[in-house]
Amino acid sequence: MYRFHMKIYGCQMNVCDSDRVRTALGRRGWIEVPEDEADMVVFTGCSVRGRAEQKVWSELGRYAPLWKKNRRPYVALTGCIAQSLGDRAFTRYPWIRLLSGPRHIGLLPDGLERVMEDGRRVTLLDENPRDFYDLDEFSGVRDNKYRGYVTIAHGCDNFCTYCIVPHVRGRFLSRPPVDVLQEVRRLIESGAKEISLLGQNVNSYGNDFKNGYGFAQLLREVARTEGVERVRFVTSLPQDFTEEIVEVMVGEPTVCPSVNLPIQAGSDRILRLMNRKYTRAGYMEKVRMIRALLPEPGLTSDLIVGFPGETEEDFEESMSALTEARFDLVHTAAYSERAGTPAATMPGALPREVRMDRLARVNRLQDEITLSINRALVGRRFRVLAEGPAPKGDGLLQGRTPSDKVVVLPGDEGLSGSFVTVEITEAESWCLRGKIVD
Ligand code: SF4
Repeated sequence: MYRFHMKIYGCQMNVCDSDRVRTALGRRGWIEVPEDEADMVVFTGCSVRGRAEQKVWSELGRYAPLWKKNRRPYVALTGCIAQSLGDRAFTRYPWIRLLSGPRHIGLLPDGLERVMEDGRRVTLLDENPRDFYDLDEFSGVRDNKYRGYVTIAHGCDNFCTYCIVPHVRGRFLSRPPVDVLQEVRRLIESGAKEISLLGQNVNSYGNDFKNGYGFAQLLREVARTEGVERVRFVTSLPQDFTEEIVEVMVGEPTVCPSVNLPIQAGSDRILRLMNRKYTRAGYMEKVRMIRALLPEPGLTSDLIVGFPGETEEDFEESMSALTEARFDLVHTAAYSERAGTPAATMPGALPREVRMDRLARVNRLQDEITLSINRALVGRRFRVLAEGPAPKGDGLLQGRTPSDKVVVLPGDEGLSGSFVTVEITEAESWCLRGKIVD
């Protein structure tokens, strides 16, 4: 019986993949233990931003003294970070015994057992960006019993010039609908009430089928699956966000009215340099379409500041885009260079101080917008799924409104997993506070 520990960094897709692997290992008799008792530590790491990558490198470095003394624990490095570093990782950190790219997840449990049997190194890197070895498993073991995540598509073909994803996660590949629906049913049987569909471009789902079946059809089928009480999805590609998808959102009561639509920049010149394939006007057209058809949508976005060559005028256009769109929340980031991407060698790289100054300014503006939107919700009532204890504060529960706003409320832990009607009593920029009225 092998003892393992998992360390997960990065996006929700990494969390979902890791939960599937830990469920598969549990079925094989492996036992999940605290890190200092583990024979094998499985890292799933992210290479999308420099800071996330640095964090994993420094964590991996901590094993040096233990390895010198005991030749344990073995370490497996998985996910896009493994693909990005390749087998140089073996020489840099000799305690790494297994390397697996994200498209080899299905071979991971066998690979881990091979390492445990004789300590020999196993390499499962993604050599062909179109091959995929899937794992026939769902996230039966997960942090929150009531929320279930399902990856519906892998990889990306868009090649935005700043982004490492197509280089480390391979070409776009939609999972067969029958597999997605089976995974949804397994999650529901194991207690999930809310299903989140995941993908780098979730709404491009089916573009590779060429039989007319696409994201709108899948969303409808998931929404109608018996036992599903709520459905969400992230992340959407603006140019593939169609009226048909919004019509399904409007027509299916279980689909939450929340959309994450990354804008990335407000200047057409920068959007072109980023290879984003839409203009600001085209993007705003999508926002107007969503707002016109979908009552009270929660609209969030992603924005990068300090892209190479971004002038003060370009940056001001990003600021004005935030004012125009009035997003509920924006995930902002200062541009971070990723080796191997076209943007890394573009002229006009900006000094760190400029990028950080723009990040602070954009965050200040968005905080004001978010706060004013949230304040307007005080006194309103929403149906909230109480997910469990709030991370901070005794006797407090945390949940989300249908539009995906975090709500913190006094309540007994026993209410976790229940839908409650909550009246909003206070608003902050990062969350709402409320009380249960039903
Ligand atoms: S759409 Fe662009 S930013 Fe998103 S994963 Fe693909 S390449 Fe990266």
